[in-house]
Amino acid sequence: RPVIGVLALQGDVREHAAMLVACGAEPRAVRRPEELTGLAGIVIPGGESTTIDKLSRIFELRDPLVAAIRAGLPAYGSCAGMIMLANRLADAPPDQQTFGGLNVTVRRNAFGRQTESFEADLTGGWPAGEPFRAVFIRAPEVVAYGPEIEVLATVPRADGSEHVVAVRQGSLLATAFHPEVAGDARIHAYFVELACNVAAA
Ligand code: GLN
Repeated sequence: RPVIGVLALQGDVREHAAMLVACGAEPRAVRRPEELTGLAGIVIPGGESTTIDKLSRIFELRDPLVAAIRAGLPAYGSCAGMIMLANRLADAPPDQQTFGGLNVTVRRNAFGRQTESFEADLTGGWPAGEPFRAVFIRAPEVVAYGPEIEVLATVPRADGSEHVVAVRQGSLLATAFHPEVAGDARIHAYFVELACNVAAA
């Protein structure tokens, strides 16, 4: 079974671990640099990105994790995790750092006060099968992206344009929503498969 880390500095670590078990992976909570060794991939959960940023520095996990991602460790970021995987942030505090990896610009809290939390069905064909019920909680969105980025899912705006809410770049995956809360493991399964394909290549 592939060992998939869950960054356990803050956020809903347990729910991600349960999803990983459901799709045949072995989860490992990661708080210390040595816990990065031997991972097939890592999940960066939702929570509060400024807190994850600060704690990663306090726990001295930031530099080794950034190095591991640069060296090709597959990573999946949900919500605050998407923020952490972005190379650039729009409208963030100037001292807020990310781990980076995805050639995207992400805006935090992109859905405004009226819709701090909402659910939407992803009907664009990703993930495969039935429309995926996506839960958004003070969610970010991808506002700009480079040519390496594959847009996997969008949700419509009131004006008819689209919010980009799921992207992939090689073995890096990010979603603006929380697939770990809805009892549907398809997105975790997609990530585990992505991670295993990298391991096999
Ligand atoms: N709004 C949070 C942030 O900026 C993310 C919210 C979440 O992860 N549910 O980090």
